[in-house]
Amino acid sequence: MPRILITNDDGVYSEGLRKLAAAVRPLGEVLIVAPDREQSAASHALTLNRPLRLLQLEENEWIVDGTPTDCVNLGVLKLMNEHRPDIIVSGINFGPNLGDDVTYSGTISAAFEGALLNIPSVAFSTLVGEHYSFDRCAAFAARLVTRLLEDKPNPRIILNVNFPVGEFAGVRVTKLGRRIYTEGIIERRDPRGRSYYWIGGGAPTWHPGQGTDFEAIENGFVSITPLHLDLTHHESIPRLKPLEEILGAPGKK
Ligand code: MN
Repeated sequence: MPRILITNDDGVYSEGLRKLAAAVRPLGEVLIVAPDREQSAASHALTLNRPLRLLQLEENEWIVDGTPTDCVNLGVLKLMNEHRPDIIVSGINFGPNLGDDVTYSGTISAAFEGALLNIPSVAFSTLVGEHYSFDRCAAFAARLVTRLLEDKPNPRIILNVNFPVGEFAGVRVTKLGRRIYTEGIIERRDPRGRSYYWIGGGAPTWHPGQGTDFEAIENGFVSITPLHLDLTHHESIPRLKPLEEILGAPGKK
């Protein structure tokens, strides 16, 4: 029986996680290890400056007072250490995780943590609007997880899946799109006259780009983007190579 670890960044009580867990439960032995509250945009943060608590809610359900990355670590290395999970499934996030925004995402970082632990991992997020449905997304997620359990994919490469709002027009394998940053910092005053700030606030807009995750979602397709952790810009290595000589020679300033 395959072992499936489920986490998210919206917190253990989110509908997306509940629907996802219900959809994949027939596929194997499911363990939920999720943050005890919302951790959206927690990115790949790992809690190292305070102790973490792991609390059991149900037989196969645990909460952590930490980040999605903490949850994956405690799930894999503590709760499932004897029999590691065959797959880690993160989501379904309330809101998309597309293009340049992927590095903010706790949903995606949980999957990256799975990759670091050498476990095939997939992140699910959905655009939210008038006709969105976690049930529809979860049913698709179960189909994809079924395939991944059969295929044994390269654990170093995660899949970032985003769902459009309405019925699915189909599936597109995509690359990351680029976000247009329009909003700055919103400043307000509290009742004591001091300033406080909100980052962003407006709905993101995107550069149109063929084959991008954003284009797929715009046109009603499910977007599947393969991602890896190697952020190296390989083309720049030869261009920067002279710096080794210019900056690195002993005695030079
Ligand atoms: Mn979230």
